[in-house]
Amino acid sequence: MASWKCVKNCGACCYLDPAERPGLEEYLSPEELELYLSMVGEDGWCVNFDHTTRQCRIYLERPRFCRVQPDNFEQMYGVDPTDFDEFAIDCCYQQIEEVYGSNSPEMGRYIREVESG
Ligand code: SF4
Ligand code: SF4
Repeated sequence: MASWKCVKNCGACCYLDPAERPGLEEYLSPEELELYLSMVGEDGWCVNFDHTTRQCRIYLERPRFCRVQPDNFEQMYGVDPTDFDEFAIDCCYQQIEEVYGSNSPEMGRYIREVESG
């Protein structure tokens, strides 16, 4: 069973356009939803995302909904911690496909790195 991991040079989950994220209000508190919407730039990307380095400028202070970890996924999505890896990997696949495409270098890298364990 593969373990979830975040690969370098991606950032797909920092594309926050609410049109691509149905049901935000179901898993974010009203305060978090307000924060989320305040972070969406005109191009749909998070204003804290550095496109040059593809890294988060506020990584250590990023909100709960940016933190991919079992306790958060259980609270936000009701995912049992034993299903965390599978669920989180699927989230990355979906997000990478939407943002970069299924034949993108980002997708290729993700598949290789996750499958290599
Ligand atoms: S989509 Fe997944 S691999 Fe890409 S930056 Fe987000 S967590 Fe990392
Ligand atoms: S705060 Fe950081 S981790 Fe969260 S969406 Fe923005 S750039 Fe990505």
